[in-house]
Amino acid sequence: MKYNYLGNTDIKVSKLGFGVARLPEKKVGKDYYLEKNIVRKMVETAVERGINYFDSGNIYCHGQSQRVVAEALKPYRDKVYLANKVMPKDLNKKGDLIKKITILLDETHQKYFDFFYFWGINRKDFDGIILKNDFLQEALDAKRKGLINHIGFSFHDAPSAMQYIIDIADIFETVICQYNLLDRTNEKMIEYASKKGLGVIIMSPLAGGTLLAPEKYKGESVTVEDAMKFVMDNPNVACTLTGINSQNELLQNIQIAEIEEPISKKRIQYLINIMDNMKKKSKINCTGCNYCQPCPQKINISNYFNLYMLADVYKLNKIALDSYNYCVDIEKEEDISKCVGCRQCVDRCTQHIDIPIQLEKVKKFFETLNRFYIYGKATEERQ
Ligand code: SF4
Ligand code: SF4
Repeated sequence: MKYNYLGNTDIKVSKLGFGVARLPEKKVGKDYYLEKNIVRKMVETAVERGINYFDSGNIYCHGQSQRVVAEALKPYRDKVYLANKVMPKDLNKKGDLIKKITILLDETHQKYFDFFYFWGINRKDFDGIILKNDFLQEALDAKRKGLINHIGFSFHDAPSAMQYIIDIADIFETVICQYNLLDRTNEKMIEYASKKGLGVIIMSPLAGGTLLAPEKYKGESVTVEDAMKFVMDNPNVACTLTGINSQNELLQNIQIAEIEEPISKKRIQYLINIMDNMKKKSKINCTGCNYCQPCPQKINISNYFNLYMLADVYKLNKIALDSYNYCVDIEKEEDISKCVGCRQCVDRCTQHIDIPIQLEKVKKFFETLNRFYIYGKATEERQ
C-alpha cells in the first residue's frame, strides 16, 4: 500500500481509505442489520493490507456502521485514523457542536476522533450556521479538549464555494469532496486545496456505482481499475474513499491501490471522451457544476439529475431508486417535492436547464419506478 502525507499534517494516510456507507446489511422484517462478522473480517483485512484511514458517520447503514466499524477497529486503534462528522442541520446554537461530538464519541466508545468533519457543507450553511454561531471556534475548543485531533469539511456545492470556505477559514486541515471520471467539476479546486496545504480526500470515485455499470450500458470499456486509478493517481489527492460492500470488493480495491504504474495521460483522455459521450445521451444535460446553488429549499438539484441519468442512461434503476428514496425520506430538507418554483436556480444554470420543470419530471419518473418496485412489477434489474 502506498501512503501520502495528508496536506500539511505530519500524518501519512493510505492511498485507499475505508468508507463505511455501503457495508453489507441484511433486512429482517422492516429492520436492517449490519453483517457484523463480515464487517469485522473486512476491517481486519483492510488493516492487515495497510489501509489506515477509516471514514464514518452516524447515518450510514441505518445508523449502525459507525459503531460496528469502531468496535472492529478496537485491536488496531493506535495504528489507524478514524474520522467522524456532524451535519450543519444538527447544529442550532452555541454548544451544540461539542455536545454532538461527545454523543458520537459515546456511541462509538471512543476517547477521540483523529479527524472531525463539518459534514456536507455548502456556502449557505457555512455562512448561515457555522460562521454565524462561531462553530469554527467551537471545533477548535473540541480539539483543545482532546475530543478531536484534526478538523476538516466535506463539501457539496459549486467549486467557487470551496475556494471561499478555504480562504475564509484557516482552521481546516483536510477536505472531502466528490471527484470521478464522470464528475470532474472539483478538479481545479482539488489542486487549489492541495496547494493551500489541505489534505484532499476523495469520495465517490465510482460515481455512486455508475462506473460499475456493465460495459454494455457504459458503451465502451471503462473498468473499475480505470475509474479508481484516475482518481488515485491525481497528485493532489491524498486518499480515496470507496464505499465497500463486500470482502471481494475490498480485495479488488486493495489490488488496484497497489498497482504502482500510474495511469497514462493517453488512457485518461480516452476515458474522459467516453464519459463525455455517455453524458450526452442523458435527456437532462446537467454537468454537476452546482452553479444553480444555493436553492432556498436546499434541494440538491444536480444529485437528482444525476440519479435520473443513472436510471435513464445506465439502467441502474435500483441503485438510483434507492438513492432517490434515501434523499427524499432521510434527507428531508433536500426533498425534491419542496421545490416552490421560485426559479432562482434557472438564471444561474450554466446549461440553461429549466430546473423546476425537469425536477418535476424526475420526481414523476421515480414515483413511477417506486410503484413498479412496490407492486413487484419490475422486470429483472438490468445491471
Ligand atoms: S425553483 Fe425549486 S429548485 Fe430552483 S431554487 Fe427554487 S426551490 Fe430550488
Ligand atoms: S442544473 Fe445547471 S447549474 Fe445546476 S449543476 Fe446542473 S448544469 Fe450546473
